[in-house]
Amino acid sequence: MPSSAVVCLDHVTRAYSGGVTALDDVSLRIERGELVAIVGPSGSGKSTMLNMIGTLDRPSRGTVRIEGYDVSGLNDRELSALRAISIGFVFQQFHLTAGVPAVDNVAEGLLYCGIPLAERRRAARTALERVGLGHRVYHQPHQMSGGEKQRVAIARALVGNPSLLLADEPTGALDSKSGATVMNLLRELHASGTTIVVITHDREIAASLPRQVHVRDGRIVQDTVCVEAAPAC
Ligand code: ADP
Repeated sequence: MPSSAVVCLDHVTRAYSGGVTALDDVSLRIERGELVAIVGPSGSGKSTMLNMIGTLDRPSRGTVRIEGYDVSGLNDRELSALRAISIGFVFQQFHLTAGVPAVDNVAEGLLYCGIPLAERRRAARTALERVGLGHRVYHQPHQMSGGEKQRVAIARALVGNPSLLLADEPTGALDSKSGATVMNLLRELHASGTTIVVITHDREIAASLPRQVHVRDGRIVQDTVCVEAAPAC
């Protein structure tokens, strides 16, 4: 059945050899425009859920749909294409290429879209301006603070206008002030319509987001939506 949700997990289980069930019959819908925290302690199944939502792994049972596409019906090439078009990834450790200016690190986000370099750079500049780094276009990673590096990584994730921004512990490597700046940026992007999922073990960060999906022992134990999309939630 076609789904309007950006992310739809339907009774998803992921069992590993050795008898570990990392995700246990999880169902979750994330609609366009949502800002969601997936929160839980270490070992609760967050990375496994990230791998499912990011189409980096397939479920043992159940259905994963991204943008309505059933992941199980796609081959590896089709999955890579779905990922490249629909999902922007942000990681704790930024994963920027050393010695490469911000504009080209961001342009890398369009590498597999068949767009000429000049156009990729133009889009990269726009994305950097969107994250407040229009003045850092030619800075290399070693010339930027951790918070700036993460904003470059967010610009790279957004440059292709994906349906979903998937951020894995995006403030995990940052001091609290830079972390707050990055979270504010994610809130701004959400306010402008971007669908964002933040994976975090930090309950305080989760509590500052409008929807919190609590995971424990591979199951969703609580799914809370705040009416006010504000840090006071
Ligand atoms: P989290 O990201 O919340 O720390 P994970 O999704 O990484 O949790 O892990 C959930 C559970 O699955 C843990 O018990 C972990 O040890 C187990 N697990 C994760 N990956 C594997 C794997 N490749 N093989 C076996 N067990 C795994």
